Amino acid sequence: MVSRFPNPVDVFVVGGGPAGLATAIAARRHGLSVVLADGAVPPIDKPCGEGLMPDGVEALHQLGIKIPEGEAYPFRGIRFVSDGTKAEAAFPRGTAYGIRRTNLHRILLEHAAAAGVHMLWQAAVTGLHPEGALVAGELARARWVVGADGASSRVRGWAKLDRHELDTSQEKNRRFGFRRHYRVAPWSDFMELHWGRHCQIYVTPVSREEVCLALISSSPKLRLRIDDALGEFPELCARLEDAEHASSERGAITVTRRLRRVYRGRTVLVGDASGGVDAITGEGLCLGFRQAALLGDCLASGDLAHYQKGHRTLIRRPARMARMMLFMAKHSHLRQRTMQVFQSSPRSFAGMLAMHVGEGSARDHISSGIALGWELLKA
Ligand SMILES: Cc1cc2nc3c(=O)[nH]c(=O)nc-3n(C[C@H](O)[C@H](O)[C@H](O)COP(=O)(O)OP(=O)(O)OC[C@H]3O[C@@H](n4cnc5c(N)ncnc54)[C@H](O)[C@@H]3O)c2cc1C
Repeated sequence: MVSRFPNPVDVFVVGGGPAGLATAIAARRHGLSVVLADGAVPPIDKPCGEGLMPDGVEALHQLGIKIPEGEAYPFRGIRFVSDGTKAEAAFPRGTAYGIRRTNLHRILLEHAAAAGVHMLWQAAVTGLHPEGALVAGELARARWVVGADGASSRVRGWAKLDRHELDTSQEKNRRFGFRRHYRVAPWSDFMELHWGRHCQIYVTPVSREEVCLALISSSPKLRLRIDDALGEFPELCARLEDAEHASSERGAITVTRRLRRVYRGRTVLVGDASGGVDAITGEGLCLGFRQAALLGDCLASGDLAHYQKGHRTLIRRPARMARMMLFMAKHSHLRQRTMQVFQSSPRSFAGMLAMHVGEGSARDHISSGIALGWELLKA
């Protein structure tokens, strides 16, 4: 039988989601030969809030990827809505996009093809091998194997990197997400985050006639789905009442996971496979793109210890934001006080948003934090 993989390659990427495709592109930019395999068929959809923050757009630019006009819908900031209180701020710099996952996937795939990545679809990877990876049992030889196979990564388990989790309580760190698209003209050029008692709902404008709604909740016992949750948000309900569904409801789990190690031998993890932050941050894509760029450099230099160090640094800010937002989600009294402060002092919300998207110095962030703390004490 003729092998599909006659020659060894530099990099074999398991998973052709955003992080896998971005890593493949980054590795090709260094002249490495790359094969990527995914069990699904493109364009790949995935439950997501579909918000790409300005730092994510910037991370894509650094990989030579621009979002073509018409493929996404720009928005200029974030609006929090909680119990009748609203606070909003524009991003200090750059534009964010609401982008359908299928559009994002197609754009990344086209760039990967143009960069010379050899892609295999409907090609599930079934295991690791001392010389590479197994695609449906067939050996693909590679110097490096990149696990970009998402939050439930099997590569992570095969490489025994699961043993290096810092947060072992998966139950505590697991939350439940659902998304659905509605055919309605966006009513705002902000991405909205609606805070409820047991859940949060993101509304992201993704085109001139469509918004993406993503629900995130904590308790599996509640079995909260979009239609039930909307009852808690009369304003949203009214806006969406007559809107046609443009997609069916799809669910996914979002997990906060930190790994002590993200590589072992020739196997290295990227994107959600390498750990991640709660979806409430809207930073998963950006984090994956930044890790991909760094991993491309480190694969070229053969220095995965450097990747591990950089990976730890990259996850720090989104992890801090996730902790803060989850704290707000859990403590409704504190959330209301914070919302009042944000509403009466828009600068404090703008400061938090700047921190969220990585703008400003550490000093700015500390003074924003102190100012917010002071306002909370006074409220
Ligand atoms: C409800 C929700 C809302 C979110 N909202 C946002 C948001 O607004 N903004 C944001 O930036 N992030 C958001 N995120 C996070 C974001 O979706 C993820 O961080 C991102 O999809 C991670 O990309 P990835 O490529 O690492 O993994 P994935 O997108 O999961 O891709 C993994 C790929 O690996 C493939 N695969 C798996 N196993 C194998 C195998 N054995 N062989 C071959 N292929 C395999 C899969 O088919 C898949 O294509 C949200 C997440 C959730 C759950």
